[in-house]
Amino acid sequence: MREVRIKDTLGGDVTALEAGDPPQVGIYACGPTVYSRIHVGNARPFVIFMLLRRFLAHQGYQPSLVINVTDVNDKIYDAARELGVDSAAHAEEMTRLYLEDTEALGLGRPDAEPLATETIPEIVALIETLIEAGHAYESSGDVYFRVRSFVGYGKLSNRDPAEMDQGEEAGTARLKEDPLDFALWKARKEGEDVAWPSPWGEGRPGWHIECSAMAEKLLGVDFAIHGGGSDLIFPHHENEIAQTEAARGRPLARIWMHNGMVLTGPEAKMAKSVGNVFMLHEAIERFGPEAVIGFLISGHYRQPLSFGEQALAQARASNERVRDFFREVERADGPDDPEVVEAREEFLSALADDFNTPRAVAVLYDLVAEGHRRPLPGAHAVIEELLEIIGLESLARVEESVDRDSKLLLAERERARAARDFDLADEIRDRLEERGWLVRDTPDGARLLRRP
Ligand SMILES: [Zn+2]
Repeated sequence: MREVRIKDTLGGDVTALEAGDPPQVGIYACGPTVYSRIHVGNARPFVIFMLLRRFLAHQGYQPSLVINVTDVNDKIYDAARELGVDSAAHAEEMTRLYLEDTEALGLGRPDAEPLATETIPEIVALIETLIEAGHAYESSGDVYFRVRSFVGYGKLSNRDPAEMDQGEEAGTARLKEDPLDFALWKARKEGEDVAWPSPWGEGRPGWHIECSAMAEKLLGVDFAIHGGGSDLIFPHHENEIAQTEAARGRPLARIWMHNGMVLTGPEAKMAKSVGNVFMLHEAIERFGPEAVIGFLISGHYRQPLSFGEQALAQARASNERVRDFFREVERADGPDDPEVVEAREEFLSALADDFNTPRAVAVLYDLVAEGHRRPLPGAHAVIEELLEIIGLESLARVEESVDRDSKLLLAERERARAARDFDLADEIRDRLEERGWLVRDTPDGARLLRRP
């Protein structure tokens, strides 16, 4: 089993993953707050952690990935109020669309996808433990975490307490012993239509405690990797660490792994449609799931990534080179070419080295380019194996990638040619081109190539 190393935001180093025997690797990644449909930026942690899980499984680890859904939150109340709908129904509908939109990526599902609203008993029990230990206190039906009772607060974000703002409503300041404290439980307010009974009266959990409770429920504490977007380092992950360590005396996770943000830069702003294409389902409809995945792994996961239609078009074009390889290049007989063996090793070591997808993908594209130039025994099988790790295995299944109507049109063109009706054949060729396909006649019959 290859040693896999990941940058740990907490320790600051690239750290080797410790796995026992059996080599189980628990991974918890913070999922969406379901107040609206998700955009491409929200899909980045989903894709990164789903692919990390694939890579670890490929290497013989036994990963277990949990991605939660935050389905009770101020943002959800606000969005529902604006739409004039019931907030529970709104959260349910947005959860359904989140599952549908991520399903369309074709990467499968995480091992568990807990909902905050299904974890209320565990959340309440964890808050009770914190109160008993003196780390939390009740105040007018709210419960707050006593930040200064936890030595080490701020160790993840490395912030000075003076510069910490929990981002909570101004109205709660008078309920807190210290402005640094943050809410674990919020009493029901007027107009809030979702609430649960608790020892402190009707209310609902704060966001941070939900993740501490969901993670522990499914993975225990001291699990391998806790992940999420870098925007969650403070206060969300800082607070998760404080809650769990204060209650259990053990760390929540051994490695804290954070992905950079997806930015909508000047190019994206100029395109009027950015508001739409930036939505995950729109991007998938227009560019295909493979282009979206290709774009999201085109940069190192820790770096910010600039979103734009051009970037997606580029990812699609790169993918087409791979499809062309499977469409056009015959499998070569013989033992695996040394270059193929070396590329496979480089690809896997790039991923083992802090999940460096851009380096791995570059190695893969080089191998594909070489495969276009000369016969490379072993290339087809290895490229297919590596594509599977990065969620792009469909690129090797070229026939399936042509839509049904286009296949029917191609068959109609073949019949027209056989009947020597070349005008009709040309007309069908133009129609296929409008649909995004180039027709290439080969000795084995006509083939469709995706138009560049
Ligand atoms: Zn979280």
